[in-house]
Amino acid sequence: MAVLRQIALLGNPVLRTPAKAVAFPLSDEVRALIEDMAATMREADGVGIAAPQVHQSLAIFIVAPRPNPRYPDAVEQPPIVAINPEILERSPEKVAGWEGCLSIPGLRGEVPRHRRILARYRDPRGAEVVREFEGFAARVFQHEDDHLRGVVFLDRMESLRGLACEREYARRVAEGSPGVVNARPSS
Ligand code: ZN
Repeated sequence: MAVLRQIALLGNPVLRTPAKAVAFPLSDEVRALIEDMAATMREADGVGIAAPQVHQSLAIFIVAPRPNPRYPDAVEQPPIVAINPEILERSPEKVAGWEGCLSIPGLRGEVPRHRRILARYRDPRGAEVVREFEGFAARVFQHEDDHLRGVVFLDRMESLRGLACEREYARRVAEGSPGVVNARPSS
């Protein structure tokens, strides 16, 4: 039975600590952690979550794009659990898009990300996966991968002028006039 975990908030050192690689086969504790991460992410309307965000400094994250109140325009894709991930290739082209973070509540920021990436990771059974991600899924993957390296989306912003309070962001999107380069998650 999955348990909701407490989410680490910006300022907590765990969010600035590089995560440790995970050993296979997974321990019962790590299996339970992954289930709890998925439940915690769903409860908070997240489209991804990394283990350091629930106070576990381990190289695990979930990418699960789906429409929800926080990301109404996200395109649903089967969730993936990435363990010990590595981004092998990044497209030279970057796209700006809005991101939020469960560890930074109430804020949205416009963040440039590589449009396409090639990533390698292990799934929970230990199988190696090499896979390409594009658009919004690539954005979420890069955001979560950053969490494993102690980096948050604020660090990736070109200017803090691209920062907005979530309520104002939602109001502007609802009006269809976000007034910025790319108001909706690219997908
Ligand atoms: Zn985050």
